[in-house]
Amino acid sequence: MSVLDSITKKVTDTAKAAAKISGSVVEITKLNMSINTEEEKVKKLYMEIGKQLYEDYIDGKPVGEELMRKCIKIDEIITNIAEMKEKILELKNVKACPNCGTILAIDMEYCHKCGKKQEEQPAEAEEVKDVQD
Ligand SMILES: [Zn+2]
Repeated sequence: MSVLDSITKKVTDTAKAAAKISGSVVEITKLNMSINTEEEKVKKLYMEIGKQLYEDYIDGKPVGEELMRKCIKIDEIITNIAEMKEKILELKNVKACPNCGTILAIDMEYCHKCGKKQEEQPAEAEEVKDVQD
């Protein structure tokens, strides 16, 4: 084999190897995508199992003690989220209609969407007294 032949062979081999590698890369990418898709399916099923369990807990059905604790944790988090949402409304100086959830000006007496009379806002005015000086 001449030197030129040898070089040509080497280049061809390298090209083949590169093609093989890029083929592998495509394959790996495809596999990773498949893995992601399958993992998402598992996550979704985990979530559905968890949601079912939480619904059982809400319905008063028997739930394992450890899982019961997690359900109670969910209750706490949901309450926390609701409080934060309320805080946002407060900061925006609006309120949500307790009947339909429509956002209303803080001093609205009736909901303009469902017509529900709004409860008196709990008097937090006392905290403001300090400002009067
Ligand atoms: Zn309403």
